[in-house]
Amino acid sequence: MPSDPLTDEQREIRDLVRTLARERIAPRAAEIDKSAEFPWDLVDLFREHELFGLPFDEEYGGTGTGALMVLVAVEEISKVCATTGLILAVQELGSLGLKLAGSDEQRERYLPRLASGEWLPAYALTEPGSGSDSAAMRTVARRKGGEYVLNGSKRFITNAGVAQLYTVFAKTDPERGHAGISAFVVEADAPGFEVGRIEPKMGIKGSTTGEIFFTDCRVPADNLLGLEGEGFAIAMRILDRSRPGVAAQGLGLAQGATDYALEYAKTREAFGRPIADHQLVAGMLAEMETKCEAARGLLYKCGQLIDDGVDGPELTKVSAMTKLYCTDVAMEVTTDAVQVLGGYGYMQEYPVERMMRDAKITQIYEGTNQIQRLVIAREMLREARASLLAGAASV
Ligand SMILES: Cc1cc2nc3c(=O)[nH]c(=O)nc-3n(C[C@H](O)[C@H](O)[C@H](O)COP(=O)(O)OP(=O)(O)OC[C@H]3O[C@@H](n4cnc5c(N)ncnc54)[C@H](O)[C@@H]3O)c2cc1C
Repeated sequence: MPSDPLTDEQREIRDLVRTLARERIAPRAAEIDKSAEFPWDLVDLFREHELFGLPFDEEYGGTGTGALMVLVAVEEISKVCATTGLILAVQELGSLGLKLAGSDEQRERYLPRLASGEWLPAYALTEPGSGSDSAAMRTVARRKGGEYVLNGSKRFITNAGVAQLYTVFAKTDPERGHAGISAFVVEADAPGFEVGRIEPKMGIKGSTTGEIFFTDCRVPADNLLGLEGEGFAIAMRILDRSRPGVAAQGLGLAQGATDYALEYAKTREAFGRPIADHQLVAGMLAEMETKCEAARGLLYKCGQLIDDGVDGPELTKVSAMTKLYCTDVAMEVTTDAVQVLGGYGYMQEYPVERMMRDAKITQIYEGTNQIQRLVIAREMLREARASLLAGAASV
C-alpha cells in the first residue's frame, strides 16, 4: 500500500513529472545555473506536457487536479532544478489574484492563457522601501475616468521581463494604510509600464528577479481585482496559498540533496569502507531523510486543507508553518549534503553546492522565516484568546 495520500490519478501525474524531471530537466540544471538564463526550452516542455494546467480548473483549460498536486509537481521538479520548479510555483502565485478575486469576465479573459502557459504571470508586492512591511508600499493608483493611473515601482519581482501579466498592489487611498491598498492586473504592454534591471543573484539563477516601473501607467478600470481597498487582504490570501509552493520547492531541494548524498556515500570510500558505513555519516543521512519525511507530512496536510476548502486563520497558520519548516529543512539538509560529499560537495562539478545556494532564497521570499514565526505566534495567541472567551461564555 502506498504511504502517501495521493489518488491514482495524482500518482500518475507525479510519475510523469518525475520522469520529465529526471530525463529532461536534470540534464539542464547545471547549465541554467551557470548561464543564469531563463530556461524557455523548459517552459516549452511544460507547455507540451500541459504542466501549466496543474494550478487551474478544467473550465479554464486546467487539469482541475487541485492544490496538493501542484505542490507534488513543484517538489518533483525542484529535486533536480529549483529554478524550473519555481516556474510552476509562480504560475500559481501570479494567477491566484484572478482565481481568488477576479470577476467571471476577468477569469475568462486571462486564466485560459495562463493555464496553457501561453502567458507567464508575476506577483508584484515588494518595493525598494517595503518588503516584510508590505503595507508601507508607495506605489499609487488614481482613478481617472475609465482607467487607473499607476505611479511607482516594485523590486525583486520573479518573472520580471518574462511575464505578460502582473498582479500589482498599489495604494488607491494612501491615508488609509492597509485598507487603502488595491490589486490590479497589469499587462506587460500597458502604456507606462517598464521592466528595469534584472538582478544577478546567489541562487535560482535562471529565474528572473527584477524591478518594474509604473510611470503614469494606464490600466482599464476593469482590471481592478475585487473592490478598491481589498488589495491587502487579497495579497495575504494569495500568500496563504502560495507559501506552500515555496515549501514544496524547499522540500524538493532537500530530498534531491539527500538522494544525491546517499548515492555518493554508498560508493565513496574512506578508511577501507564506504563512508555510509561510518556511523557519523549514516547518522547525518538518517536525519536528512527524517526531516524530509516530516516536512512532506506538513506539506501534504497543507495541500489537502486547501483542496478541502479550508480558508482564513486556520490556513494562514498551517501555511506559515509549512513554509517555515520545509524551507528551514531545505537549508539544513542541503548544507549537510555538502558536508557528506566533503571537498567534492564544495565543487561546482557536483549539484549539492547549487542546491545549497538555491535553498537560501526559500527562507527569504514570500515572507521571511522570521515573519512566518510572527504569523504562527499571532495565530496561536488568537486561538488561545478565542478559546478563553468561549470558555468564559460557557460558564
Ligand atoms: C530572488 C527573490 C525573488 C523574489 N520574488 C518576489 C516576487 O515575485 N514578488 C514580490 O512581491 N516579492 C518578491 N521578493 C521579495 C521578497 O518577498 C522580500 O525580499 C522579502 O519579503 C523580505 O523583504 P525585504 O527584502 O525588504 O527585507 P526586510 O523586510 O527589510 O527584512 C530584513 C530582515 O529583517 C527581518 N525583519 C523584518 N521585519 C521583522 C519583524 N517585524 N520581526 C523580525 N524580523 C523582521 C527580516 O526577516 C529580514 O531578516 C523576492 C525576493 C528575492 C530575493
